[in-house]
Amino acid sequence: MEKQLAMLQRRLERERNARKQAESILEQKALELFKANEELRALNEDLENKIAERSKALVESEIRYKRIIENMELGLLEVDNDGKVIRAYDWFCDMTGYTENELLGKDAGNVFLTQDQRELIDAQNDNRKRGQAGVYELQIKKKNGEKIWVLISGAPMYDTNDNIIGSVGVHYDITAQKNLQNDLIEARKVAESAQQAEKQFLANMSHEIRTPLNAVIGMTHLLFDTKLSPKQKEYLAILRSSADLLKGLINDILDFSKIESGQMEVAPREFDLIGLLKSLEKTFQLKVEKKPVEVRSRLDPQIQNMLIGDDLMLNQILFNLVGNAIKFTSEGVVGVNVKVIDSKDKMKTLQFDVYDTGIGIPKKKQNLIFQDFKQVNKEIKLKYGGTGLGLAITKRLIEMQKGKIWVESEIGKGTRFSFTIPYEDTGREAIIKNNQLPKKLTFIGEHCRVLVAEDNIMNRKYINTLLKKWDINPVMAHDGQEAIEATKKQEFDIILMDIQMPEVDGFEATISIRNTTNLNQKTPIIALTASALTKEKDKAFSIGMNDFLSKPFAPIELLRCLNKHVNQEEINNPNQNQEDMEAIFSFNAKLDLDYLEDCYEGDLDYASDMFSIFIEYTLPEVDHLEALIASKKYEEIRKAAHKMKPAFAMVGLTHITDHMAALEQTAKEKTEINTIELLFKEVKEELSIFIPILKQELKKMQAFINK
Ligand code: ADP
Repeated sequence: MEKQLAMLQRRLERERNARKQAESILEQKALELFKANEELRALNEDLENKIAERSKALVESEIRYKRIIENMELGLLEVDNDGKVIRAYDWFCDMTGYTENELLGKDAGNVFLTQDQRELIDAQNDNRKRGQAGVYELQIKKKNGEKIWVLISGAPMYDTNDNIIGSVGVHYDITAQKNLQNDLIEARKVAESAQQAEKQFLANMSHEIRTPLNAVIGMTHLLFDTKLSPKQKEYLAILRSSADLLKGLINDILDFSKIESGQMEVAPREFDLIGLLKSLEKTFQLKVEKKPVEVRSRLDPQIQNMLIGDDLMLNQILFNLVGNAIKFTSEGVVGVNVKVIDSKDKMKTLQFDVYDTGIGIPKKKQNLIFQDFKQVNKEIKLKYGGTGLGLAITKRLIEMQKGKIWVESEIGKGTRFSFTIPYEDTGREAIIKNNQLPKKLTFIGEHCRVLVAEDNIMNRKYINTLLKKWDINPVMAHDGQEAIEATKKQEFDIILMDIQMPEVDGFEATISIRNTTNLNQKTPIIALTASALTKEKDKAFSIGMNDFLSKPFAPIELLRCLNKHVNQEEINNPNQNQEDMEAIFSFNAKLDLDYLEDCYEGDLDYASDMFSIFIEYTLPEVDHLEALIASKKYEEIRKAAHKMKPAFAMVGLTHITDHMAALEQTAKEKTEINTIELLFKEVKEELSIFIPILKQELKKMQAFINK
């Protein structure tokens, strides 16, 4: 029992101890918990403080920025991805006249924009959705319908997960600036169009003046060819030189105003510089006339090819400079040198030097002369005339072609103008044919291809009507330049070229056609002129023209000319046209038309008699001659040849007459039977070609006479 009690007591003791221990642990844990709790509270407090601080800062910064924005008069508007207003700031509301409540949830585009501006804003909104910001100008409607211009800076808005939730636009009212800008643009437009109108007027005027002026000049030329008293001649000379002067002035002004109003543009195309220079040289050789001035040109042998550039402009530039050089040089040399100064790939920069041995230009005036209307001094103007525009135009033309010009000169010694222009080399060689008088008798095509260069409308009509009658459809050129252009485009069988034309005259055009690469270097060119002076004729032949028609000419003269220079068969047979039959008869062009015309002077009765006599009597004599030759009867051969000799010429076979003369001469010597046989063989061959033609001509004449 006691044992049991003791055991119990021990057990109790143990449990008491254990409880005590547990209590102490518990106590400690509670203490720890309390501590932790304290720490947590402290942390919490700290956090709250920080949050409060942050949000205060945030609010402060928002207020600050808002103030800045308000002060900057920027209207902020936030829209969601569908363009619906999420927020409208005060200034924006002030700017547009809406309250924020009126705008919330509304489609901003619908409220503020017109249809065409919607497209602009849609594009901008797409950019926003892609996260791009942008600045643009826009006109928007206020609530009261008034329109204002705003500069908008738009940027995307993001949520906390970086998703785009809309965009914010900062609007700045720029109506005042915009109005000012528009006013300025408008004012400038008005000023520009006034200026343009002035230049246009100038260009039109000079053009309009040119037409009657050309008539005046043309008429003075015609008057010169009439019978004049010395006094009349003197007055006319003054009239002509004044008219020429006026024309120069008008042309300069026209060019100048064309350049100024931007109507003149560089038009590059393939051209032949070698020919251009050759033409220039020849043209000016004609122009120096009585002065002992030699005109020369020299081209860098590196240049063999066709180039690409504006040849018309180059020609104008060279004409100005060489023209001046000749004007201011009383004796010596005027020359043009061309050299390659730079060559890169296909591009070649050329330097042109136009030099003279003339009066020279004082140093201090050398810059001045390139200015508009500037000349060296009054005396020069009095003595040499001119407008002072030539070099100003020349300089502009060169600069338009990416070149530059300068001058070196010494008083009394001479002047050298140099300029550069880059050209492209085509790699194709320029083909310059020699300058022999062309002889071209064949052509292709059904009708004769005729180019008529004539500036006078009456004359153009007249020639055109005649040619149409003969089924010829001519190409018409109104001046020499047009004629030159036409010869580059197609081949002609004959060119009828008026001499007196504005700008490029018939001589200059012919020189150019004969000397530059084109399809008509060898085409016969017939000069048409009111002047029958031999001086003009000689000049025409010397530069490569082939014939001469004096105005006014009769239809028959033109037809004869065509027949002479192109194959007659190819011209539609006049027999087909009854009206023409009465007016004119034309022989086959293979016959010597000049001789026939001189011989019969249009007397067809006589001509047809001669033709039939030839066929009936002369031809059998030819057979007889053959027999005589076979038997080597020299004296009889000589007599027979002598007798029949003129008969060939009478039917237009003058070349056989020449043969017969040779045969007669040989027979006189009584030795050369071989030569006689050879000559006779050639006669027979020619006859085999011409007998059918003669028979046809006879029929033609008889038909003509019967009508
Ligand atoms: P203009 O129509 O008067 O010739 P330009 O502009 O062509 O006008 O030339 C202006 C002036 O420059 C001329 O009047 C002349 O005084 C001078 N000048 C031009 N070229 C030469 C030259 N080769 N020799 C001497 N003086 C020249």
